Amino acid sequence: MNDKQKEELKTKINSEIENLTRQVKELEDTVAPVKPDAAIGRLSRLDTMLNQGINKSSIAQSRQRILNLEDALNRLEKDVFFGECEECGEGIPIARLLALPESRFCVHCAEHLGE
Ligand SMILES: [Zn+2]
Repeated sequence: MNDKQKEELKTKINSEIENLTRQVKELEDTVAPVKPDAAIGRLSRLDTMLNQGINKSSIAQSRQRILNLEDALNRLEKDVFFGECEECGEGIPIARLLALPESRFCVHCAEHLGE
């Protein structure tokens, strides 16, 4: 991986983190507790609660992805274990890294490991 590719990846990771952080913030606004308000009917209240459940799991997923991306950024900056498959030690193609910067395995091992 050359310096230009590294810069590209850093930019990519930072913008992903930014997007995810914004998404989490927006989702968090939607999962405020539902008040047993007479203004909205029982059904729409259930509906809201159901959506909130979905949003809560998206929040958890996005938060985990942010952590993974921050970890990837860290590894990239320190030049440790970045772009190398942790399973077989082969280089991970730059295209895969750009698509999924937090990947720690090459395509082959990822499939093998069910990642
Ligand atoms: Zn591998």
